[in-house]
Amino acid sequence: MAETEADIVIIGSGMGGATMAAALAPTGRQIVILERGDHMPDVPETRDAKAIFADGRFRPDEVWETPDGTPFNPGNFYFVGGNSKMYGAVLIRYRAEDFEERQHLGGSSPAWPISYAALEPWYQMAEEMYRVRGDATQDPSEPHHSGTYPYPSLLDEPAIAETRRRLRKAGVTPSSLPLGVDIDRWLEGGHTPWDGHPDTNGGKMDAESVGLAEALRHPNVTLLRNTRVNRLETASDARIARVHFTQDGDSHAIKPKVTILSAGAVNSAALLLASANDNFPNGLANRSDMVGRRFMNHNCSALLALHPFRRNHSVYQKTLQFNDFYLGGGPDGAPLGNVQLLGKITTPILTSQAKLPRPVAAWLAARSVDWYVMSEDLPSRDSRVTLRNGRIVLDWKRSNWQAHEALVVKTKEVLRKAGFPILLSKAFDRRTPSHQCGTTVFGADRASSVLNLHCRAHDHPNLFVVDAGFLPTSAAVNPALTIAAMALRVAEHVKEAA
Ligand SMILES: Cc1cc2nc3c(=O)[nH]c(=O)nc-3n(C[C@H](O)[C@H](O)[C@H](O)COP(=O)(O)OP(=O)(O)OC[C@H]3O[C@@H](n4cnc5c(N)ncnc54)[C@H](O)[C@@H]3O)c2cc1C
Repeated sequence: MAETEADIVIIGSGMGGATMAAALAPTGRQIVILERGDHMPDVPETRDAKAIFADGRFRPDEVWETPDGTPFNPGNFYFVGGNSKMYGAVLIRYRAEDFEERQHLGGSSPAWPISYAALEPWYQMAEEMYRVRGDATQDPSEPHHSGTYPYPSLLDEPAIAETRRRLRKAGVTPSSLPLGVDIDRWLEGGHTPWDGHPDTNGGKMDAESVGLAEALRHPNVTLLRNTRVNRLETASDARIARVHFTQDGDSHAIKPKVTILSAGAVNSAALLLASANDNFPNGLANRSDMVGRRFMNHNCSALLALHPFRRNHSVYQKTLQFNDFYLGGGPDGAPLGNVQLLGKITTPILTSQAKLPRPVAAWLAARSVDWYVMSEDLPSRDSRVTLRNGRIVLDWKRSNWQAHEALVVKTKEVLRKAGFPILLSKAFDRRTPSHQCGTTVFGADRASSVLNLHCRAHDHPNLFVVDAGFLPTSAAVNPALTIAAMALRVAEHVKEAA
């Protein structure tokens, strides 16, 4: 077994890991990034909806289980850049109210251990780093920004500009989605949506094209691909002494001064549990018994809105949202969630995901304006990731579903009023952990959290976990910008520790 050393070992090159690497690279410390996946291959299938959605060309060769042992192939992507290679590039802030305790139809969403104001400067920095296009003046639910977006928002395509006008007339306040997209560059690779499509030309500002590219400009940063971490080994003082991994079938170990675990909420929890030893029999960082618990995802539905005599010629579509029901709007003023456009739905997506006959799918896809309706999933101790015979078991206890149903009803009312008489919705299935979070929550109380306020493990002085796992709540907006902002904040503390 070969053994090497590094100042900082980062496990995973997704949104958390790559942003950490970029922020730490200028320190000159020896940084080694261990990434399970390879580069996204630059093949025609990256722009082929049938290959992506029907054939599952980029899905992993991996099986997780439900608690009753039913195997499933998760929509979790292992590439350099992680899940952000496939993402919709919506880089949106949590609302300020998301940091406070809030009552939902399905229960309470707890307060964060830090305020919105504490994270705000890091949000600003993350938006600059990921070159976000947006306009903070359009949406009344937008929290305070200390600066402006670095670039103006992306223009609506004609059918979406018309939809924006119709929504205003219907009484809601549409606003531009904040996006990390260079649209000219993206379209050079093909006239397709970017949402759910792999990025190979840097048209999306993702963890690889931005965070990792920045980090790898520094000679002290090394990326090892096809490198799967299997176990963290502790020393007698509880520090992480070695990171064990396999590459090309061979076993290796690396001795880190500091380890940053950024394998994604599900895999980071799995790795901590798999690293149990005599001193830490319940897994690492798990004296609180919270590793893997409070797993959250979003409650999401796709909603197709159409008029039989109006066509939607949009290519990518995804430039609009409305948050009129985000802070209230439900029974007794309960918050319901965010409504944003999906990337344009195409015939292969409808034939594969909704099992529609091709002519029906084609008729719908030519006309529909397609929405992503998203509601908060509340944290629960019983919603969790565990291991069974080394395999990941995902026991997602979906919560607050009544808020989601209410949001779908409200959204349909609005869209009907806006001139879309045909409205079809379908909930996203449970095998899609796109917005997974919350398995290694941060907090001030070591009895009820895994990480301290700087995302350092309470139980291990040189272990930080920086990915979607720290999130104490899922809110009802896309998570990547909040992960990047926290990574930049944590990096300041790692600089002192390394
Ligand atoms: C289709 C899709 C659309 C999305 N759209 C949006 C969007 O528009 N906006 C948004 O905010 N979010 C979106 N998301 C979610 C977003 O991509 C994730 O929230 C974000 O990437 C999570 O960052 P992370 O660092 O937690 O994990 P990831 O980005 O998933 O990174 C984890 C990395 O760790 C690696 N890894 C895992 N296990 C190991 C191991 N044992 N050893 C070594 N490496 C390992 C993985 O290969 C991966 O590279 C979307 C996700 C999907 C799938």
